[in-house]
Amino acid sequence: MSSAVPTDTTQEPPTRQSNFLRQIIEADLSQGTYASRHWAGSPGDAAHHAAGSPDPAKIRTRFPPEPNGYLHVGHAKSICLNFGLARDYGGVCHMRFDDTNPEKEDTEYVNSILDAVQWLGFSWDATFNGQSTSHLYQASDYFDFMYRAAEYLIEAGHAYVDEQTAEQMRVNRGDFGKPGVDSPFRALPASHHLARFRQMAAGQHADGAMVLRAKIDMASPNINLRDPAIYRIRRATHHHTGDKWCIYPMYTFAHPIEDALEQITHSICTLEFEDQRPFYDWLLDRLCEGGLLAQPHPHQYEFARLNLTYVITSKRKLAQLVTQGHVSGWDDPRMPTIVGLRRRGYTPEAIQLFAERIGVTKSDSWIDYSTLEGCLRETLDVSAPRAMAVLDPVKLVITNWDALHGEGRLDDCSAPVHPHLPDLGRRSFTFGKALWIERTDYEEVPPKGYNRLYPGNKVRLKYGHVITCTGAVKDASGHITEVHAELVPDTKSGSPGSDAVKVKGVITWVGVADALPAEVRLYDRLFSVPHPDTTEKDFLEELNPDSLRTVTAYVEPSMASAKGDDRFQFERHGYFVADREDHAAGKLVFNRVTGLKDSWGK
Ligand code: ATP
Ligand code: MG
Repeated sequence: MSSAVPTDTTQEPPTRQSNFLRQIIEADLSQGTYASRHWAGSPGDAAHHAAGSPDPAKIRTRFPPEPNGYLHVGHAKSICLNFGLARDYGGVCHMRFDDTNPEKEDTEYVNSILDAVQWLGFSWDATFNGQSTSHLYQASDYFDFMYRAAEYLIEAGHAYVDEQTAEQMRVNRGDFGKPGVDSPFRALPASHHLARFRQMAAGQHADGAMVLRAKIDMASPNINLRDPAIYRIRRATHHHTGDKWCIYPMYTFAHPIEDALEQITHSICTLEFEDQRPFYDWLLDRLCEGGLLAQPHPHQYEFARLNLTYVITSKRKLAQLVTQGHVSGWDDPRMPTIVGLRRRGYTPEAIQLFAERIGVTKSDSWIDYSTLEGCLRETLDVSAPRAMAVLDPVKLVITNWDALHGEGRLDDCSAPVHPHLPDLGRRSFTFGKALWIERTDYEEVPPKGYNRLYPGNKVRLKYGHVITCTGAVKDASGHITEVHAELVPDTKSGSPGSDAVKVKGVITWVGVADALPAEVRLYDRLFSVPHPDTTEKDFLEELNPDSLRTVTAYVEPSMASAKGDDRFQFERHGYFVADREDHAAGKLVFNRVTGLKDSWGK
């Protein structure tokens, strides 16, 4: 892949609504805030900050996940935002793994994250002036630079090694009402701290014996500025750097440096990092003063994270659902993970449209799940091929069929693959003496307003003929085993006389002769309450007991060629996808993506 901007896979590019980030970027572009920057070498190289050619990318954003789990719909918002801004403003979005915490990270997660970003329709490759560059980075590539930065801070009197116990440090940090107390180690000379820090790095001290802290202000009203820890001793094998290091930078120290080395212009994160911004700026200002980095350094902007009703996004709780078997895995179609949404049948277009529609704000709120489903319906309605399926089948027998058409004869019928996309052609199936219809399409005694099958009523079988219901056959327990009807001659859909007989009800069906059996998994929302895990109640008690019902259905013969991930509208029922794991030729498995209408609204 090599395009200057990530491919936008949306059929109709969503209209981009302005937001505070777009306004900031537009102001920066018109004022030329970052126009004079030069970009040479790769991040972390000394050559990188030397004058090279002017940076061809107008802005740089980044998506910086920690590879410690599967991405979820909240991350998708961040991906669409960061890659989308780069796409829209002639910039580049860096894909960067924030792999500073070796104990929890794994290459399995690295691969699933790369996969998720690409599936969503974005790329970290950029081409300018015919030259293509892959902007895939990992924080661990900058460990050498971070170490040098730490030594510089010590030498310049901006950092010190604290040997207080964790408990002493906690007590001496103070709290919102109480200023902190300086560590007794704070006033020792830089030479002492430098020696100590080098011993830390050389493995001469036990894990947790001491930490490197920034020297800022123990009385700051912002607790994040009360000498935050920036390096700790941790003997852990890193999935990328192995055992090279036994000290690791803290996230709050590493992150601004990663952004600066990559010359990120707009570092966009969620609101909970707002109180970290002063430290972000403090650190980069110090490193610019020391000549390790160049001004203008990146700027952090915060936006409201996505909270979606009926969904939880806590990694720990999602893991609990998987390990305790409440769902079948991280990619269970009910999970809010990107792999789950994908298996459920969500399209990248729907998720991009959703991200665009919910916008970007500076205050937290809840987005209704139906907004996400609405985006999905919109994208599927215009693209998904149609098919007929009967999910709760009962046999319909046309009792005058043999007399009218001859015993064993079948009548060919067809329907457009998509009502508005004639180029997709037509699908074929047969009408005969025995058909499958939905059990709910027959009532012995019709409720008020019921227009489907009941004795004496006329109904059209969609794309087929009009029939008159004559009754039903029951078994000894009163269960209906067959519905009976007579065909009204000369009423076939599309034939000249078909409109002569007016009916109020149209029902879907498939032919017993050519329908295919299919396993259909009727998924619904995973939680039955709009704000799960927000009360005292155990979130497991809030699981929707009806979030999965599996039925054996009959589908029309065109489904024989369905491939995993193919999406369809089963007429009257909703949108369905051939399951990417379990569906195969000869063993059809469909997941319900969503119904045709929102059934959860008031
Ligand atoms: P952790 O608790 O492990 O930090 P995390 O969900 O923050 O979990 P990260 O890997 O740090 O995971 O997230 C990567 C990026 O996704 C971050 O920039 C973060 O701001 C963003 N992000 C995470 N959750 C949401 C959310 N619900 N809405 C919007 N952005 C999110
Ligand atoms: Mg995080």
